[in-house]
Order: sequence, then C-alpha cells, then structure tokens
Amino acid sequence: MEHFVVIGAGQAGQSLTAKLRTLGFDGKITLIGEESAPPYQRPPLSKSYLLGEMELERLYLRPLEFYRDQKIDLMLGRHVSAIDPKARQIQVNGERLAYDKLALTTGSTPRRLPDAIGGNLGGVFTVRNLADVDAMAARFDPGNRVLIIGGGYIGLEAAAVAAKKGLQVTLIEMADRILQRVAAPETSDFIRALHKSHKADIRESVGLSKLLGNDGGHVIGAELTDGSVIEADFVIVGVGITPNDALAHAAGLQIDNGIAVNEFGQTSDAHIFAAGDCASFPYQGGRIRLESVGNAIDQAENAAANMLGQSVPYQAKPWFWSDQYDMKLQIAGLNTGYDQIVARQGDTPGAMSFWYFKGARLLAVDAMNDPRAYMVGKRLIEGGKSPKATLIGDPATDLKSLLRA
Ligand code: FAD
Repeated sequence: MEHFVVIGAGQAGQSLTAKLRTLGFDGKITLIGEESAPPYQRPPLSKSYLLGEMELERLYLRPLEFYRDQKIDLMLGRHVSAIDPKARQIQVNGERLAYDKLALTTGSTPRRLPDAIGGNLGGVFTVRNLADVDAMAARFDPGNRVLIIGGGYIGLEAAAVAAKKGLQVTLIEMADRILQRVAAPETSDFIRALHKSHKADIRESVGLSKLLGNDGGHVIGAELTDGSVIEADFVIVGVGITPNDALAHAAGLQIDNGIAVNEFGQTSDAHIFAAGDCASFPYQGGRIRLESVGNAIDQAENAAANMLGQSVPYQAKPWFWSDQYDMKLQIAGLNTGYDQIVARQGDTPGAMSFWYFKGARLLAVDAMNDPRAYMVGKRLIEGGKSPKATLIGDPATDLKSLLRA
C-alpha cells in the first residue's frame, strides 16, 4: 500500500490530505504537525478569536473525528527534523518513517526583533499560533498600553482589536505609510482614517530604535527613530514572515523565496511536493509566494491531484481579506506593477473600492465594505476581462453589467 506523508498540519496540510481522499486515494496518509491542536484557521487569531468572540473549537478546520473517519493518521505534537530524499524517509521525534510521496506544508515563521534591541524581553509577542494569542490575551485589558510594530495587515488587525477593547494603541510603521508593501496610497489613507476615528495612534515614517525593559526583563516602552520615547505595557511585532524552508534546504531541495515548486507543485525532487506559505511557484513568467488562506487551499488541493499523477498545472487566483473594526476589506488579484488607480464609491455608506490598472489591464481591486465590487472585480480578473477605467469610475455604471460585456 502506498504511503503519502504530509509535514505541517495547518491550512494547506489539512486541505491536501482531505483532497487526496476526495480524489479516491486509498493508500496510507500521515499528517504530522508540531503544534498540539488539530489543523486550525489562523485568520481569526488576529480578529474574532483575539477579541474573545470565537470559541477554540470553531477555529479547528475539521473535528478530530474527521481524520479518524478519513483514515488520516494525524500525528500532533511531533516535529520533523530531517528528510532523507534518497532513502525516502523522514526523521520524526527520533524515529524514521518511510514515504512513497511526501508533501511539505510547513507554513512560515514571523520575523522577530533582534535580541540586541529588546526582542527577547518579556511582553513582546508575535501573532502566528494559538499559543502566541493565548499568551497575549490576558494583556488585552482596557487602559493597557500596547505598542504595535509594523503597519501590515496583522499589525493593523491587532490594533483594531486592541482599540475596540479599550486599550491605548500606538502603531509604528517605518515606511512612509501603512500597507505600503501591499496596497495603494488610497487604501492606506482609508484604513489610516478608520484607525484614527477609533483613537488608535498611527505613526508612519517612524521606526523602532530599541525596546526598553525593566530589571525583571519585561518591556516597559520603546525608543523610536524620531527620538521619541513611549511607554508600553506590552508589544506586538508584525513585521512579516519568512517561509519555513529549512527542512527542505537541508534535504538539498531547490530554494527560491521558499521551497521552489514547478507548476505541478513538485519540488526539485520528483517525490516531494510543497504548498502554502512555504512554497514559491511559477506565475506569469516569474515566481511568487502567496501568504493567504485561498492560496494554501487551492495550491494544496492542486498538489494532491498531482501527487496522484493527474498533471494539472496550478492556476493561482489570488484573493485576500482583512477585518478591522466593522470594516471588511476584500482584495482580488495582485496589484504588482499597477500604474493607475480608479476610485469608486459603493452604494451603501462607507462602501468604497479602489481598482488597480496597468495600462488598460485590470489587475486587482481593494473593496472596503463593498462585497459587490469585490465579487465583480474578482470575476472580471479571473475571466481576464478589463472594462474601461472610466466605466469603473462612473457612479452611473451598474457594476454587474460589466460581467456581461
Ligand atoms: P500554516 O497554517 O502555518 O501551517 C503550517 C504548520 O506546519 C504549522 O502548524 C507549523 O507548526 C507546522 N510545521 C512547520 N514545520 C514543521 C515540522 N518540521 N514538523 C512538524 N510540523 C511543522 N490569510 C488570509 O487569506 N486572510 C486573512 O485574513 C489572514 N489573516 C491571518 C491572520 C493571522 C494572525 C495569521 C498568522 C495569518 C493570516 N492569514 C490570512 C494567512 C494564512 O493564515 C496563511 O497563509 C495560511 O495559514 C497558510 O497555511 P499553511 O498551511 O501554508 O501554513
């Protein structure tokens, strides 16, 4: 009987193993994860779960019975320390386990601040795992002062939760605007205004010089690059992630901004596949790595089909979302290389969308409180359709009519 082993029991690992069964694979499946919880969704960790509005069990992607019923051997709390591609074996907690095909869905790790500037002080947190959020939850008391480092989605979502819970929030971003890496200035302006209306102190073009600690090794504040000093009861660091590719690298697999896979999700070893945050793949003549739930699911399901020999190339359809306060941001497409932004007011109060064009080509849309703009934009982009920018910007245009054109 064939044995497929999947390392990393997160979003992609869960999707991949479930898909293997849906596609009729009746061999042995082992899914190994180093965390103690069964595969769970991470987005609520910086949203409803952090707010205390979501039960732990609802985070789980499937109840434990699912793995039993599907005959997926779920090994939790086990760390895989090595892969031996020649012998087709892995090393897990000191034991060797043989595979016929292997998939790496190892995810990513948040960047930490260097110890030299206080990264090792008590009260300094990152947001990746349940354990991270459970550790910081007790600090989310009204009146507490939180310093958030990094104005990307994770930092902004944590800021929104903290402000909503009555904490005093300061967020610093060393670039000249929040979301600079991922969104247009228009989207940054919209989201900055939202945070300011909730009394979160958003400071841009300001970096961290160092964190300040007390004698007990706990953070008490920070010195910023503009010379100011602020006090803080705790700190959340949201300065990006790095793909978990060390295991693959040590096994001699090709690495290129994460574990490099071909259009079939296959690494440089034909028996080893990879998907999710840890994997970079060919896209429009280049190579990208996406950090999103949508990609983790789609890429993992595609890898599952290819592990079964189907030879289906992966067609990424990038989409993303973020919840901050009562605002839902939905993003379709990738805006890389855009040269024009078209703004469109939605039909309901607070609804707004920004459409990214490169020449005449529609690349992406950011829709704030505007599910219709998101839905239409996503279908246009995925269908390779680009309406005239002037039509998008014209409030008289019925967006849905653009789908029929
Ligand atoms: P993961 O879900 O991280 O799973 C990887 C697993 O592999 C981990 O459990 C890890 O411990 C385990 N592992 C790694 N190495 C080993 C090893 N050697 N042995 C055993 N186990 C190992 N995306 C969106 O689209 N929308 C959002 O709103 C959104 N919000 C987010 C909010 C937060 C706080 C975070 C952290 C992420 C968010 N994301 C969001 C991103 C999304 O959650 C990730 O892209 C997705 O989880 C990636 O899935 P994955 O399976 O690749 O990695």
